Amino acid sequence: MDFISDELERFKGRGLLRGLRLLEGEQSSRVRIDGRDVILLSSNNYLGLASHPKVKERAIDAIKRYGCGAGASRLISGNMELHEELEKRIAEFKNTEAALIFNSGYTANIGVIAALCNKCDIVISDRLNHASIIDGSMISRAKTKRYPHKDIYALERALSSSSDYRRRLIVTDGIFSMDGDIAPLPDIVRLAERYSAFLMVDDAHATGVLGEGGRGTGEYFGIEEGIDIQMGTLGKAIGGFGAYIAGEKRLIDLLINKCRSFIYTTGLPPSVLASSLAALDILEEDGHDMRRRLWRNARYLRDGLIRLGFNTMGSETQIIPVLIGDSATTVKISEMLFEEGIYVQGIRPPTVPEGSSRLRITPMATHSIDDLSNALEAFEKVARCYRFSENPI
Ligand SMILES: *Cc1c(COP(=O)(O)O)cnc(C)c1O
Repeated sequence: MDFISDELERFKGRGLLRGLRLLEGEQSSRVRIDGRDVILLSSNNYLGLASHPKVKERAIDAIKRYGCGAGASRLISGNMELHEELEKRIAEFKNTEAALIFNSGYTANIGVIAALCNKCDIVISDRLNHASIIDGSMISRAKTKRYPHKDIYALERALSSSSDYRRRLIVTDGIFSMDGDIAPLPDIVRLAERYSAFLMVDDAHATGVLGEGGRGTGEYFGIEEGIDIQMGTLGKAIGGFGAYIAGEKRLIDLLINKCRSFIYTTGLPPSVLASSLAALDILEEDGHDMRRRLWRNARYLRDGLIRLGFNTMGSETQIIPVLIGDSATTVKISEMLFEEGIYVQGIRPPTVPEGSSRLRITPMATHSIDDLSNALEAFEKVARCYRFSENPI
């Protein structure tokens, strides 16, 4: 087993060793991490729903009524009332014929791509798509073509040179998870139609967040009809856990029959489903206000960071990267901010391309402007060190 120590040493030597941090208490915009009270700027709980009193209450009620576990996979005896209620609710929310719940976004992506494509097909994928899309493409054994980030011309070249494949699946993140920019969906939909390809959009970070009703990137651009397969997660802005695929009923029927990551796993527990149902109720009532606060906070923070001279890459959403470059420096800056009471996680390869290590900053709707101005002060302090030291950081 010595190879394990060797491998860990190699991670360490390259500034890429990862470790877990302990968050005490419940999820909130201010938390205690590793024994220190900090402003949390590294959570995908964008609207603060993870610990909303009504969400907690509904989850507790569901446990009292339905117990804790689903006991089996959905196709055996684990398909309970709340699974069907949530699926119906998501289909309404997304304006689609049907929806299917998955145990996580990761398992949705790996299963769905493999259920729809095999070695006769090609998956055409943005280079910065989430790891679960890359893994799903690999599992499917389809030919995979990754085009440069948001490069519509490269996408068109990939489409025009792939007419020999049986099926062509274009897949893209809606909001890119490490860059915070938005896919050029109107152009992608147009190309999918012109070349008879089908289109899957991963709205993990856009669900509950983008669009007038929080329905995601399709709504934001007014092109929901053009997206064949809409995936979203329930663990980020929705504040719970799990994921969904929304689309035509025949798509959902096929997935129930064929998608291995749906079939061969235990159904989500009732309390988890109830929390998503409660979160969707709250979104319907207060979503507009919550999103307004989230966008206000994101704009305040991004403008402040740019004013301090940081490079926020192409961020146009609540995900605000600050490009650092080198992995070890990124870790050091993240530690300096932590000492100042600001928790911002550094993101390193292989999550992002080599040489593009960054801080990934995510404000929440529940942060006050005070929280964010405190954070900007800490960033200013760090920027001063970083710029004026002989030996940066
Ligand atoms: C987080 C994320 C996923 C995975 O979703 P989980 O529910 O956390 O497994 C998939 N795709 C993207 C783009 C993500 O950011």
